[in-house]
Amino acid sequence: MSLLSIVDAQVRFGGVRAVDGVTISLERGNVHGLVGPNGSGKTTLVNAISGFARLHDGSVTLNDEQISGMRPDQIFTRGISRTFQSIRLLSTLTVRENILIGTDRARAEGDGRGAGKLLPRDAVNDRVDHAVALLGLEKFAGDFPSQLPYGLQRRVEIARSVASRPELILLDEPFAGMSRAERDELSDVLIEIADDGFTLLVIEHDMRIIHKICSHLFVMNFGRCIAEGSPRETAELEIVQEAYLGK
Ligand code: ADP
Repeated sequence: MSLLSIVDAQVRFGGVRAVDGVTISLERGNVHGLVGPNGSGKTTLVNAISGFARLHDGSVTLNDEQISGMRPDQIFTRGISRTFQSIRLLSTLTVRENILIGTDRARAEGDGRGAGKLLPRDAVNDRVDHAVALLGLEKFAGDFPSQLPYGLQRRVEIARSVASRPELILLDEPFAGMSRAERDELSDVLIEIADDGFTLLVIEHDMRIIHKICSHLFVMNFGRCIAEGSPRETAELEIVQEAYLGK
């Protein structure tokens, strides 16, 4: 059984069909890439999965439970966490405190149905410690976000997602605005996160990064998923080269 199944998802903004009949599945433990030209519907699809955009038609199912129609907080407590294109950290809290936010209301492990109950303090601290270590933030845990370079601020956001121990992490352009060195470091970190058992869906433009971290690639154009498969096979398809690479 797939971890997440999206069937014939449609999201419209007035006359714009931002997501226009997408049917895809995410498999447990994979790093999935989501690419496509600007305006092709990638962020709207992530918004639809996480409850930030309403589906006009179709469904999203997590572990056999329909989550489309639920609020973002309900979807979070069922095990889907996300980051946004713009970094959203609280400037008056330390790195550790930023990571802690929301962790106590996260999914209890192995218990999707007990979603939303408060976790005991020890479990919260363990999760935060693990996320801090996984993202290599030990030295910065007491710092404030503004004291950190941009690439590390991104990592704090991802650590916050990891700390809630979700089944699925949705990352909307996590590499945007990073230097090449920061991109390389973050791609190594994402591989470690996947090795730790997390399933990821990553929006990214850089095919070098996609080839490095993803085992499965979805290509969108005009609100539709026009191709999917291994990054190597998919990137070579003529329909993809025409749509995405402009060839
Ligand atoms: P991508 O992430 O691939 O760049 P988006 O999902 O942001 O694409 O946008 C897909 C389409 O939906 C675009 O035409 C965009 O202008 C439109 N769109 C996205 N969000 C909104 C919104 N809140 N209101 C109106 N149109 C929107």
